[in-house]
Amino acid sequence: MSLIVQKYGGSSVADAESIKRVAKRIVETRKAGNEVVVVVSAMGDTTDELMDLANEVVPQPDGRELDMLLTAGERIAMALLAMAIKSLGLDARSYTGSQAGMITDARHGSARIVDVTPDRVRAALDDGAVAIVAGFQGFNRGTGDITTLGRGGSDTTAVALAAALGADVCEIYTDVDGIFTADPRVVPAARKIDRISSEEMLELAAAGAKVLYIRAVEYARRHGVTLHVRSSFNNHEGTLVLNSLDGENTVEEPLIAGIAADLSEAKITVVGVPDIPGKAAQIFTIVAGANANIDMIVQNVSAASTGRTDISFTLPKADGAAVLAILEAEKANVGFDALEYDDQIGKLALVGAGMRTNAGVSAKLFTALFEAGINIEMISTSEIRISVVTRADTINEAVRVVHHAFGLDAETEAVVHGGTGR
Ligand code: ADP
Ligand code: ASP
Ligand code: MG
Repeated sequence: MSLIVQKYGGSSVADAESIKRVAKRIVETRKAGNEVVVVVSAMGDTTDELMDLANEVVPQPDGRELDMLLTAGERIAMALLAMAIKSLGLDARSYTGSQAGMITDARHGSARIVDVTPDRVRAALDDGAVAIVAGFQGFNRGTGDITTLGRGGSDTTAVALAAALGADVCEIYTDVDGIFTADPRVVPAARKIDRISSEEMLELAAAGAKVLYIRAVEYARRHGVTLHVRSSFNNHEGTLVLNSLDGENTVEEPLIAGIAADLSEAKITVVGVPDIPGKAAQIFTIVAGANANIDMIVQNVSAASTGRTDISFTLPKADGAAVLAILEAEKANVGFDALEYDDQIGKLALVGAGMRTNAGVSAKLFTALFEAGINIEMISTSEIRISVVTRADTINEAVRVVHHAFGLDAETEAVVHGGTGR
């Protein structure tokens, strides 16, 4: 008997009809002789709607109470799904994150899993039942409080359960047929990828391809969990995320795995920094105090006549206000002239293990953007990724032209089965 963990995203359980459709699929998997654990997200855009509601009540909701509110979304979905499965004649039991043993640290809104004790899930399986677990949520033993794992965190719940239960596969069901070479909502010519290495998927997820949540990919890589991303709207094979593509009978790795875009970042420029040793260290020590995730950093060449330089960096928009405030407070100490804040940037990342050995990739990327009249504002590279910052309103066009330039366009249009893209 195989043990399969199936995770259904919000777009797959958006309404009562969808819940019944998913229930049928789960029943078929169980009847085919598999043990089935289901992880479910909140219905449709419930999480966003609850977040909007909280922000209407207070601009900065309390972390503990926000987690209490948001976790209600997954509870609704899990109970409805269990009811639907029972009505089809199979036993099903739903569990909250804490009942399922998802133990986390105490960080509200971005808790990390520290232990998984799925005894009740295991017992339900032993009784022949389907276990349904609410995604995205956990429990901290120290505070006794409910936590959430960060947006998109149901993927992590599924992977963590798959690892703890020794599942044969972790299936991630969503509203597209798998992982594509770019977001099919932005690039209709995006091509479905049959197999991708976890290394490349990590880079794509980090760069904004929200089809998989980065922490789920990391967790799967560390624990050797095989991920299968596929559509809940048909039975097509999706995309396998594998730790190593060794043994695949490709003669050469494809140059490019995919392109991701991210509109959630902003850019801060520290203008007129004295060009003397120690200033970058001082600035980023201050910035570290806000616990923000700094990404690209660029320091301009100092104009010899002024002896001053500008330092720009990108960070999540959500951290923008806090970082501006702590830098402003240290303005006299650091001795810079001014701060500039720009939240109209977009970041494009081109990812591929094959680019390690290929010198022409940057030139081709920059040429494609130049020919489309798109200005590049910042550049950063890693072994298997090149990222550029452009204006936010040109980012989708940028992704399309780069996709085309690297010969990734498919002949047929990608299908998006559901979801609102929110
Ligand atoms: P779910 O509700 O199932 O968790 P998400 O909205 O989190 O779904 O993720 C699926 C969406 O991810 C797709 O509808 C698609 O628009 C987007 N996406 C972004 N990049 C990619 C990519 N490279 N391949 C597939 N989907 C992508
Ligand atoms: N419902 C949560 C969210 O929208 C978790 C998830 O869907 O993975 O972020
Ligand atoms: Mg998701």
